[in-house]
Amino acid sequence: MRQRHPATASSEHLVIVGNGMAGHRLVEALLARPERPARITVIGAETAPAYNRILLSPLLAGEMEREALTLRDAEWYAKQGIELVLGERVETIERSARRLTTDAGRELDYDRLVLVTGSHPARPPVLGLELPGVHVFRDLHDADALARAAEQGSNAVVIGGGLLGLEAAEGLRKRGMQVSLLQRDDRLMNRQLDLTAARLLENELRGRGLDIHTDAQLERLEADANGLVCAAHLAGGTRLAADCVVVAIGIVPHTALARTAGLEVNRGVVVDEWLTTSDPAIHALGECCEHRGNLYGLVEPIWRQVEVVAERLCRPNAEGVPGYVEKPTATKLKVSGVSLYAFGPTEAEPGGHEVLSYRDPQQGDYRRLLLRDGRLEGAVLYGDTASGPWYFEQALAGRDLTACRPALLLGAADAQLLLDDALNESPQRPAKEAA
Ligand SMILES: Cc1cc2nc3c(=O)[nH]c(=O)nc-3n(C[C@H](O)[C@H](O)[C@H](O)COP(=O)(O)OP(=O)(O)OC[C@H]3O[C@@H](n4cnc5c(N)ncnc54)[C@H](O)[C@@H]3O)c2cc1C
Repeated sequence: MRQRHPATASSEHLVIVGNGMAGHRLVEALLARPERPARITVIGAETAPAYNRILLSPLLAGEMEREALTLRDAEWYAKQGIELVLGERVETIERSARRLTTDAGRELDYDRLVLVTGSHPARPPVLGLELPGVHVFRDLHDADALARAAEQGSNAVVIGGGLLGLEAAEGLRKRGMQVSLLQRDDRLMNRQLDLTAARLLENELRGRGLDIHTDAQLERLEADANGLVCAAHLAGGTRLAADCVVVAIGIVPHTALARTAGLEVNRGVVVDEWLTTSDPAIHALGECCEHRGNLYGLVEPIWRQVEVVAERLCRPNAEGVPGYVEKPTATKLKVSGVSLYAFGPTEAEPGGHEVLSYRDPQQGDYRRLLLRDGRLEGAVLYGDTASGPWYFEQALAGRDLTACRPALLLGAADAQLLLDDALNESPQRPAKEAA
């Protein structure tokens, strides 16, 4: 039986559609607030309770056990008095009646609704993509299917040289497969890395045995006599044997539910700074939403969205509560033995950016900083990435780093010393000596 929590202030029924990373984080954020809605129902299409999707990569690589991914189990939800419905997909939302229906025929009334339906992998329009043996890498089932494919086959082709493609490729390689990776661009992780860092990464991965094809144009996938995928054909005539193909070229927000409910949808479900959709009773956040033209693929901004929505749901009439504001995000790659940290633009704007770079081929270290008027706008660190978060903090704060410019490439500790010295010498500072 569902327990009611004595500290709840609102008698509203809140329904959360999606028990993924954002949906679960929202539950935790609501539970931390005394004014949370009295009744909360969570409906998730996956059969497993919320898990850490980020850790699917180390799971695939065999570096982690399945159990370590679970965020909270169904028992925990029950103890919190939250109704958790798993393995059911919400199919329709009747907004005028504030009622939704799942694919199992369950009907549920709501007062307020949150859509956290995430996204699904994008699929390129390539002949043969529907063949058995072609996979995506999004959820636990995909990770299981890939692990099984690695047991049975020996050759894999991964389409996509971004974060996800690289993590999938390394995972399969660690499971003993011969892996070819296809990247359409001239470099790996082209959105995050400049050419030098991308080449360092490429050399490291090639050294481990990955067969990397940049500037690769996939033309079609070939089926064997049993109708299973057996090869990938590239423009130029290259044929790569493939018992298993993984498509990792990007993500597309899950918007079908919102669209059929008549909500405003562009590439994602359109929301304002309160993550409210075109219907004031419905919020959307995470990878399914679109805010000021932006879509999301990393959890850092989503965590900030969660706080805004939790606050809004618990204190809808509170004034002065800040809405969601876009901020830059830093990227890390989860391939063990490769340390990489990047944020901001990868290419210097001619006449706009000053470029500082440092390279130690022996240690395998590389740093490249993009500055505009003494302020950091972008950075790529490969090898020793310890100072990455410090650089990112300086960029977010828009701090003028002119005073520590000579030590900037040496890393956080040296640069901060110079900054502190400059600050102590500054006449504007309330000098302790003068007091
Ligand atoms: C392998 C992998 C590695 C990643 N690594 C990183 C990383 O290192 N760093 C990082 O920041 N991000 C990473 N990400 C991205 C991160 O996992 C996502 O940004 C995050 O999970 C988004 O959360 P979400 O709740 O919006 O979507 P999801 O976590 O996808 O959750 C959405 C949930 O909603 C369910 N759903 C959809 N439609 C319905 C419906 N109609 N009814 C009911 N339920 C529905 C889905 O089944 C799903 O369970 C990675 C992703 C993957 C796949």
